[in-house]
Amino acid sequence: MKFSCSLETSSERIRLVNVISPLIKAGYQLVTQRQEPSENGGNIIHVVAKSQGSKTQEDLIDDLSSIEGCTLFQLEIDGEGSVDAVPPTPPPVVQDLDQKNALAAIGAQYPDIADVVRHYEASLPQETRAKAMHELGRKVGSGIYKRDYSLGSALKMPTTINRELVPALKMFSKVKAKNNLVALTKCPFCKLSDSNHSGCHFVVGYIDGFLSSNPAVDRVRVEESSCGAGTTNICEFIIW
Ligand SMILES: [Zn+2]
Repeated sequence: MKFSCSLETSSERIRLVNVISPLIKAGYQLVTQRQEPSENGGNIIHVVAKSQGSKTQEDLIDDLSSIEGCTLFQLEIDGEGSVDAVPPTPPPVVQDLDQKNALAAIGAQYPDIADVVRHYEASLPQETRAKAMHELGRKVGSGIYKRDYSLGSALKMPTTINRELVPALKMFSKVKAKNNLVALTKCPFCKLSDSNHSGCHFVVGYIDGFLSSNPAVDRVRVEESSCGAGTTNICEFIIW
């Protein structure tokens, strides 16, 4: 059977040769092999090879898993699709949910974005959390204004709040609005969090980005005047 696999070595000193010689010894016939540095300071070794004779899938997994200093993290056997390699081994290169990925996920799942937003929030260090959440919200709010509200003549304040911002926020929460006060009465970003959270920085940023993208709005300031995290779940924002 023909297979392709990827292994990560635990240090850069363990190289291609350390992987392919035990495979050759075990009777595999190599087709291609390639090495690249891994993010964890070792090497990633990609091998395509053929087994001879009576080797079973289990034998193959055994052989690959017993190569010293390596972790098998990907194995595909021709014609049989992907096989779970050694079950409890997570992929070694864990991708961070950076802002670009978060925005892509938000774009794909909009308006069901509370989980992505919370996941992103949790991935940030405490010191930069509030600012990063604001920034993320700003980009999303600005994107939604441009996508859904920028055609036709721009509405001034405070009309834009009721006619545009509130419907946009209603995509993810119940909203109450009066003059320059907007309240998310079921704030999905605060749900499940305690008062230390910064989920509402996302909403502040969203409102900020949304209104700032409106050419009829001069300048805008937004603040969360009360947060319902851990209590009522009602979060109130002042815009001026
Ligand atoms: Zn809040």
